[in-house]
Amino acid sequence: MTTPVDSPCSHLDQIGDFPSDQSVCPQCVARGDGWVHLRQCLVCGQVGCCDNSKNRHATTHFHASGHPLLRSLQPGESWIWCYVDQTAITDHPAGRNQKR
Ligand SMILES: [Zn+2]
Ligand SMILES: [Zn+2]
Ligand SMILES: [Zn+2]
Repeated sequence: MTTPVDSPCSHLDQIGDFPSDQSVCPQCVARGDGWVHLRQCLVCGQVGCCDNSKNRHATTHFHASGHPLLRSLQPGESWIWCYVDQTAITDHPAGRNQKR
């Protein structure tokens, strides 16, 4: 039997509980660079920048750590991306950041 269609990602049990109130990419700040959008690793909580940003720290973090799951920290966005499964999950509670 194959994986059920309603669970495209097998890594959701790795999701931790992290504050989503961060508003900078720390590695970009350290370099004096800017970024476009913020992403947060859901396995360890590290914040990085998206693939439209110069330094792509979120993807860099995945390659360095093997942590497959991130969420958007953009206000109003609520999705999770799994690098391993190349899948977006839009209906998971962890995708909802609490930014006001
Ligand atoms: Zn996955
Ligand atoms: Zn960055
Ligand atoms: Zn991580």
